[in-house]
Amino acid sequence: MRLGILSDIHSNLEALTSCIEHLKAQGCDHFLVLGDIIGYGANPNECCEIVRSLKAPCLRGNHEEAVLNPQAREDFNPAAQEAVEWTAKNLSSENLQWLASLPKIYKEALWTAVHGSLSDPINEYLVDESSARETFMLLHTPICWIGHSHIASAFLRKEDSLLGIQKRNFPQGGTLKIEPGFQYIINCGSVGQPRDRNPLSACGLWDSEAGVVFFFRVNYNIALAQEKILQAGLPEILALRLSYGW
Ligand code: ZN
Repeated sequence: MRLGILSDIHSNLEALTSCIEHLKAQGCDHFLVLGDIIGYGANPNECCEIVRSLKAPCLRGNHEEAVLNPQAREDFNPAAQEAVEWTAKNLSSENLQWLASLPKIYKEALWTAVHGSLSDPINEYLVDESSARETFMLLHTPICWIGHSHIASAFLRKEDSLLGIQKRNFPQGGTLKIEPGFQYIINCGSVGQPRDRNPLSACGLWDSEAGVVFFFRVNYNIALAQEKILQAGLPEILALRLSYGW
């Protein structure tokens, strides 16, 4: 199976369609979506509808939580809060209902998927060794797919070993070999708002037979996504940051 990995789409329709096109051209027959489909960008309904059409497992992120529950917006910065309020007003009731149905954790035989981490599925940024260790302790499959930090990266360890956790970053793309006897926490990066100083859209592909994960950076129409954000009256910073990948 060739599984396409999409996370943190953030209502960026141009990035989402470019990534799906790229993954389909690489032979992806299934998809996994790791949450934060909405928030920040100008096309929340279109992104929800495309993701729904993939018939893929889809996780709940902190932006879904914030749209559904105003209390969950309190820790958001002002631009993110404004975007969540705009998104909540503009989403169709059908898409809101679908977002409310998304699970916090999803498990298959060979992998587990969560937006944040296994210790805090919605809100934890899994970016260092100590947060990776906590998730490894709760992980019972070889792979855990995560999103949320918008940083294309992976943690790995020998199964059952809490020492010697390694971290790799993939800001320019790359490949990761999945070895038997090891466990992996993998973030393929953000489709719609990359934050590793590379403005190209990020997505991933797991070839389960070959035992390889590919980290891709995909060109998309950044200028159009920015123009739509400005036209929608969303905070200017949400458009500007797309140019820098931050
Ligand atoms: Zn996000």
